[in-house]
Amino acid sequence: MSLDDLPPLRESLAAAGLTARKSFGQHFLLDLNITRKIVRLAELAAGETVVEIGPGPGGLTRALLESGLAVVAVEKDPRFLPLLEDLAAHAGGRLTLLRADALKLEPGDLPARASVVANLPYNVGTPLLIGWLTGRWRPTAMTLMFQKEVADRIVAPAGSEAYGRLSVIAQAMCEARILMDLPASAFVPSPKVASAVVRLTPRPGAPDDALAMRLQRVTAAAFGQRRKMLRSSLRGVGGEALCEAANVTPTARAEELTVAEFLALASASGD
Ligand code: SAM
Repeated sequence: MSLDDLPPLRESLAAAGLTARKSFGQHFLLDLNITRKIVRLAELAAGETVVEIGPGPGGLTRALLESGLAVVAVEKDPRFLPLLEDLAAHAGGRLTLLRADALKLEPGDLPARASVVANLPYNVGTPLLIGWLTGRWRPTAMTLMFQKEVADRIVAPAGSEAYGRLSVIAQAMCEARILMDLPASAFVPSPKVASAVVRLTPRPGAPDDALAMRLQRVTAAAFGQRRKMLRSSLRGVGGEALCEAANVTPTARAEELTVAEFLALASASGD
């Protein structure tokens, strides 16, 4: 039994009588040309272990396995397990399935070193990303599908409309770039919005846990009142004195500050 023996994804789904559930954010990629392209662009190293969140019917999983990678796939919806178990039977021991809510995983549930590749459910994509950027389990790299508007926020430069807390935290911890855009029509069923694949690679010398925590606090205060000047929005974490200590203009607004300036504010702020 090899991966080549599997029927097309649409047939597998139809045979299992499965339809998408909105509450699980289910929009499937059934075209293997697309999932293979995502895996190619992810530039994963041979022999690497990949954690996939939300394999669903397994289109992205198949493409990962075809590339010779070992995959740990975490799926919350038990209806997909028989399909995924069939895929595992064709994968020569390289697919491990976890039936779990990805938001509730403990570091010990996952391999110590792994990349993440996922077409994320829209409703949990941002909390999962923040967890991987600043939490206890950190992937070696991430290739993630988001709705386009979220992808734009992740890579947004200072001064742009999309620039916000997510941009600062993501770019402080990782080098982030959009690999490809996908129209809503690429998914079954089609969502209301377009999507994009973002690759995030941890920066050498990225903030340690204590600095990342302070960065979260400072960005929450600054962007929580983004129209206000920093001397006022940052009042709870040091206000004008903090701006002066970090060499940041106190009359500036959050969206005008670079990631380096936010890091300076975080460094100068207390625990
Ligand atoms: N990877 C598949 C694809 O590309 O066709 C499915 C992607 S679909 C956008 C999101 C998948 O994540 C669904 O299979 C859904 O059941 C699963 N899911 C939703 N919330 C989840 C959670 N909290 N933890 C794990 N999986 C989840």
